[in-house]
Amino acid sequence: MKIEKIHAHVLDYQLEQAFESASMRFDRRQHCLVEVICDDGTIGWGECLGPAKPNAAVIEAYATSIIGRNPLETEKLWIELYNRLRDQGQRGLTVTALSGIDIALWDIKGKHYGAPVSELLGGRFREHVHAYATGSFKRDGVDRVQDTAEEVAGYAQEGFCGVKIKIGFDVEEDVKVIAAAREALGNGKRLMIDANHGYDLLEALEVGKRAAAFDVAWFEEPVLPEQISTYHAVRDGQPLPVASGENWHGRYAMLEPLQTRAVDIVQPDVCSVGGISEMRRVVDMAAMFGVRLIPHVWGTAVCLAASLQCMAALPPNPPRRRPIEPIMEFDRTHNPFRQAVVKTPLEHDGGVVQIPDGPGLGIEINRDALRQFALKEA
Ligand SMILES: [Mg+2]
Repeated sequence: MKIEKIHAHVLDYQLEQAFESASMRFDRRQHCLVEVICDDGTIGWGECLGPAKPNAAVIEAYATSIIGRNPLETEKLWIELYNRLRDQGQRGLTVTALSGIDIALWDIKGKHYGAPVSELLGGRFREHVHAYATGSFKRDGVDRVQDTAEEVAGYAQEGFCGVKIKIGFDVEEDVKVIAAAREALGNGKRLMIDANHGYDLLEALEVGKRAAAFDVAWFEEPVLPEQISTYHAVRDGQPLPVASGENWHGRYAMLEPLQTRAVDIVQPDVCSVGGISEMRRVVDMAAMFGVRLIPHVWGTAVCLAASLQCMAALPPNPPRRRPIEPIMEFDRTHNPFRQAVVKTPLEHDGGVVQIPDGPGLGIEINRDALRQFALKEA
């Protein structure tokens, strides 16, 4: 079995209504899927987190070196690809692009052996996960406090076990938004706050202290991801559990935060941490350092499927039953191709998502959707 072709698909949709986090404005939805085609007709799919066109450019650059290679040699190929751009690319786009290729190779491996990726990773600890909704981004021309309350109430009704809201804009307004979200959510469901590294240390400390009154489960990316010592200061100076990890790419980026316990919860994203191969290593590292791991998830159903396979194989740590851990992030922002790219959507039912048990990632791609949402270059 040999790799014959690698193709990056850039999907694109112009949003009717833009939305923003503290770090990014979304006028369009763009995601990069990776298709790896083998000479026996087997096809694997992966996805990269982050800007789609630059990811696609790195994939094209990587692709030439693994054409003709055995796709089942996931570890050999991972190391070779990483080495190719190591000197200039220990994190960032090189690792996100590598993530997409690695996921596609694991999909191929699962299809080849007729087993779900989770089984190849060592076995399934669970057949479903409980989902929390991510939403309440800032939108132009609306009252954020009221908008968040209405949105959050909807998620609670849908059965999600919790909601993650966006802050990091303005301390006073953010605290009002957090209060409104807790009121709309009621008691008994988790409320998470995500600043997308929009604060400096003093703002993060103030928000953490004031938000503690509203039973917040975690405070995500309070400060810039490069500032590990600032994470320690946030963790020491306010009462909320601190979470981060979507922008720590690869095991080396994860080492210091885990070893020095800069966070209470680490959030690797399979589409940015280095794929399924690297996620497996980071899972072991987090377990060794006793840091809870809850994956970050942001993408299409390909990303959801890869995340679900990793979550199925995530060992409970400590090894006793926790009824709803690990919870799964479920992005609720508008994205018409999120589920359309697969023939059977990976939707939630009352806040519960079943983990596919078919070969590989357990999904079938809908090529009509790839054509419909393919980026049309001007
Ligand atoms: Mg986040």
